[in-house]
Amino acid sequence: MVSIPPNDADFGRSPAGLFMEFSSSNHCFRLRDCPDRSTDVAVVGGGMAGVWSAYQLAKAGFRTTMVACGDDERGGLQGASRRAAGAFNLSLVNGEKMEAMLQEIGCGQTHPSVARTLSLHLSSALRELGALMELKPVKIGMALASGNGEQFLEQIRRRFGELGGEMIDGWVTRLAADAGSCRGLQYECREGAGKLRCKAMVLAPGGYAGLFANAVKTHCCGNVLGYYLQCGGIATNLEFLFKHGYGNMEANELTPTEELPGAEIYDARSQRVEWLEQMLFNRQGTNSHLQAVQFWLRNPEAEFYVDLSHRPLYLKLQELNGILENGEKAGHHFEAEKTLALAGVADLFPKKSRMEVFDRISGWIASRRVIDYAMFEELKHGFKPAESLKFRVQPLTYFSMGGMGHLDFSTNLKNVFVTGEAMHDFGANRVGGLPWSLYLSSAYVIREQMGGILGENGDDGGDFEMTSGRSHYDPGLLGKIQQRLHDSQERELTASRAMESIDWFRRTRGDLLRNGGRLDDGVAWLIVAEAIMQCSLCRTESRGFFFRHDFQNSDERLERLFSCAWYDRAADEVAAELLPWDRIEPRLRHNQGENKPELACATAI
Ligand SMILES: Cc1cc2nc3c(=O)[nH]c(=O)nc-3n(C[C@H](O)[C@H](O)[C@H](O)COP(=O)(O)OP(=O)(O)OC[C@H]3O[C@@H](n4cnc5c(N)ncnc54)[C@H](O)[C@@H]3O)c2cc1C
Repeated sequence: MVSIPPNDADFGRSPAGLFMEFSSSNHCFRLRDCPDRSTDVAVVGGGMAGVWSAYQLAKAGFRTTMVACGDDERGGLQGASRRAAGAFNLSLVNGEKMEAMLQEIGCGQTHPSVARTLSLHLSSALRELGALMELKPVKIGMALASGNGEQFLEQIRRRFGELGGEMIDGWVTRLAADAGSCRGLQYECREGAGKLRCKAMVLAPGGYAGLFANAVKTHCCGNVLGYYLQCGGIATNLEFLFKHGYGNMEANELTPTEELPGAEIYDARSQRVEWLEQMLFNRQGTNSHLQAVQFWLRNPEAEFYVDLSHRPLYLKLQELNGILENGEKAGHHFEAEKTLALAGVADLFPKKSRMEVFDRISGWIASRRVIDYAMFEELKHGFKPAESLKFRVQPLTYFSMGGMGHLDFSTNLKNVFVTGEAMHDFGANRVGGLPWSLYLSSAYVIREQMGGILGENGDDGGDFEMTSGRSHYDPGLLGKIQQRLHDSQERELTASRAMESIDWFRRTRGDLLRNGGRLDDGVAWLIVAEAIMQCSLCRTESRGFFFRHDFQNSDERLERLFSCAWYDRAADEVAAELLPWDRIEPRLRHNQGENKPELACATAI
């Protein structure tokens, strides 16, 4: 219920700019209804997974409507895609043993559809993308030449529109779907509340990492995952979130791995952490994320600082190393290039010591040896950094690896598909650059299946009643959930802390529901938060980025077991259990309402 005073007109604008209608029967404002709309496929979410899927569906001739939120009223402009580098990992994709490699990297938790989808579709997806926009080669494969996702989103959205695709700039507040029918969704926009009826849905609303206090600010908090669970959807792997080992605590920003070589790392007693510095110097930074995060998870009070002041020297030395390594190829230019690079290093030092630095390095490289960590350390003694670049670092929660459960992107709700970070995609560990690869490829698999659904029995699932009231975004509540999840799942996860949080999530949700907040984002967040904790509770081990204080080692018996969570609407409780994939699979088949797991079989509560 909105508590703004009535004015002379029947309709007025709420403080948030929404059109409201004064209802004389209950003396309150409700959202004005927008005209009903209908489409074949509704796509929820306007990140790279949503726009690419919508574009592919429109291209195949399906009447497609994308609902995405373009304003910044819910914490800030949303979505991970606009911030991403848009890099595509190709290093694993052409290997024969991709499935085995992905399971190894994902610590036995990689979704079984990933390898198949990538091997079947990634090459052609990149060819298609390459014809639409410029790509550039990078170390792991390819990347958007623009360097971020913004241009990709704009361009694909425009092409979707040119193909006749429709867009609603609105916030989805409810899904009307279950195991037996797909009817549509309810949304709010500046004009009021609306209903979009559809025969099929593709959910691409991003991940749920935003529910954690230390998350990269993409403002994606998993609200659609909450609605999906409310409809009877099954979620898998929710306990796993990828973490970045070197979050800048002051700026709440990632420190890109490629900016770390040459850094000095200090602990709380101002002691240098040389093993880590060496690893970074030798460009093993990507591998060090997991080690760094595990260290912090085991020592939640530990403080670490990164000092980037010596990076200019490091970078000049790398230039020199590059020339030394490619010496033979440079041919007769080699000596000249080497001298120039050496002079470049010496120039960073005070005038009086330049000659000495030049001679010292010349001596080292006389046998074409490259400059290693020990030499770098020695040179640093005479180097005076121009500025101090020291800051405190801690792990940041980057993106979620679990999410809506699916079989080849088809969920257990009838005609409801999922793609993007919203789904269970990867494992317990990082697979850099594979999310975009997978999300591009998954659109083709969804498109193929859509043909079967809309081609033969394209009947819609029937109409549905709009839920009255309006949704509410409460940043205060979000902050409390974020802190709870951070403290009980990230900082010190034990069974008793988890139970304490679950109890709080339930009580808070109960209060919201009793007070008419059925459409509130908070209800959805609290269901997802409980689901994360239930999945975390049933995993009685530590694996990858997931760490439990009361079970600090990995248990090999749990390697190929996946957590599986569902919501019991009548009891308003979430339950979860660990199952092998062949027992999850039957539950994920749609039209299998009778196969839905019983709350009684839950192990967690
Ligand atoms: C800084 C950063 C760099 C990254 N770099 C890479 C990389 O180089 N390569 C790679 O493969 N991966 C990378 N990742 C991961 C990857 O970018 C993300 O997982 C991916 O972009 C997610 O895309 P998405 O479309 O699923 O979700 P998002 O881009 O998060 O979009 C979700 C959309 O859904 C909308 N939405 C949510 N709820 C609702 C609702 N109720 N109603 C209406 N709309 C809603 C949001 O507004 C948003 O537009 C990076 C991630 C980050 C944070």
